[in-house]
Amino acid sequence: MADETKQQEPEGAGRVHQGRDGLFVGGQWRLASGGEHIDVIDPVTEKVVGQVPAGTAQDVDDAVRAARAALPGWAATPPARRGAVLAAVRDLMAARRADIVATVQAELGAPAAFAAAVHTDMPTAVMGTFADLAAEHPFEEKVGNSRVYQEPVGVVGAITPWNYPLHQIVAKVAPALAAGCTVVLKPAEDTPLVAQLFAEILAAAGLPAGVFNLVTGLGPVAGQALAEHPGVDLVSFTGSTAVGRRIGAAAGGAVKRVALELGGKSASVILPGADLPRAVNVSLANVFANSGQTCSAWTRMLVDAERYDEAVELAAAAAAKYRPGERLGPVVNARQRDRVRGYIRKGAEDGARIVAGGPDAPEDLGTGYYVRATVLADVEPEATVAQEEIFGPVVVLIRYQDEEDALRIANGTVYGLAGAVWGPDEETAVAFARRMDTGQVDINGGRFNPRAPFGGYKQSGVGRELGAHGLAEYLQTKSLQF
Ligand code: NAD
Repeated sequence: MADETKQQEPEGAGRVHQGRDGLFVGGQWRLASGGEHIDVIDPVTEKVVGQVPAGTAQDVDDAVRAARAALPGWAATPPARRGAVLAAVRDLMAARRADIVATVQAELGAPAAFAAAVHTDMPTAVMGTFADLAAEHPFEEKVGNSRVYQEPVGVVGAITPWNYPLHQIVAKVAPALAAGCTVVLKPAEDTPLVAQLFAEILAAAGLPAGVFNLVTGLGPVAGQALAEHPGVDLVSFTGSTAVGRRIGAAAGGAVKRVALELGGKSASVILPGADLPRAVNVSLANVFANSGQTCSAWTRMLVDAERYDEAVELAAAAAAKYRPGERLGPVVNARQRDRVRGYIRKGAEDGARIVAGGPDAPEDLGTGYYVRATVLADVEPEATVAQEEIFGPVVVLIRYQDEEDALRIANGTVYGLAGAVWGPDEETAVAFARRMDTGQVDINGGRFNPRAPFGGYKQSGVGRELGAHGLAEYLQTKSLQF
């Protein structure tokens, strides 16, 4: 199947998927009931690159019914067969790599190399892990005189943000399908084009009709209808804490499963004796990747008082290399641009020293929602810019006195999504990381592992994505006693 697609798709530059005038429901592309549309804007050119329908509550209801109708067949499909379909999806994603890259570039403004390596290859790899997990996972096991079955939770409502458009979709849809659930997806209104491309890929891979359904639309309309639909058994949401809280409350009221992946304010803790230049450079690369629009970004850098000034100099020099329009892409829209610049101004008003970047528009760039790569020094741990998620290319450098002080600061926000520890040796770094109230910590620059569980402590969320833990979110257990 992948080979066939390769023949249809010419090599070379990819085509931007400009949007279909349809919702994907019950295996068919059909018109939305309301007739409204959403324009998709390229954050680099500020021009419309595509259009998708704005689905209504009626459309969501139709999609949930289609997912419900498809559930018994898909849930009864042997897991290895489900895995084979996901493997075909992975192969088609690889075959359409250039189109995915072009589409994510157009709707998110991501620089080409990042759009390829992270926005495209990462979700393709994640899809592959769930193809494998579907085949490997022990869906049945013997526990003493019991047989324990892991069964799909049912119909999943997936609501995703724009920051990693395809990855966020795959991180929900792949484990749901591997588990035997059926899905209705409501992607972010800023980045719905790659979601349509993904729906095409799922259909081409032979996924039965109704197993996956796509309703593009506005959050407070289609998103809310999906989150509150009584026919949805599990709502999986990634996005802002404000919306997540409402979705969690609605799910609690209906006693249904919910997974929430919310914000973060993660710390990169540089312990005495660590390789300072490497720690600073890698931490900055982590923050400025995707223009700072990463929920797990290490947006607070904690450095001991003795080496603080050196760290500030290193960070300022490194940040200067992230030129807007080259290595640094724009943020997703004008609202986010203004919001991020507002935070930079607020930081300065509260006493922070701007040592790189700043709130002004970058020079020589006619269009594009750019924010300069900004380093704020002399930031107090309790300052607004050290507590709230900025979601832009901004890092704050905080001074600590000793290890206990570093731990107190690292744990001193409402969030607990990710983090990094840089130590003189692995053992010291691991000992510190074990005391952090956070879901995922990179030790001395650890590499991304698509099978490692990802998710938050505290107000960063509920539940885990990726790997076997991610699959478990979409399963419920039944035991039979003999
Ligand atoms: P958002 O929470 O408004 O949107 C996320 C998704 O939820 C979108 O698909 C949206 O359409 C949908 N949605 C919005 N209102 C809804 C409602 N009432 N009911 C159901 N669904 C609804 O987030 P955003 O506007 O995309 O971004 C705002 C902030 O969220 C960012 O600045 C950032 O702080 C945070 N954010 C976090 C992540 C993350 O991965 N943790 C990702 C994106 C954004």
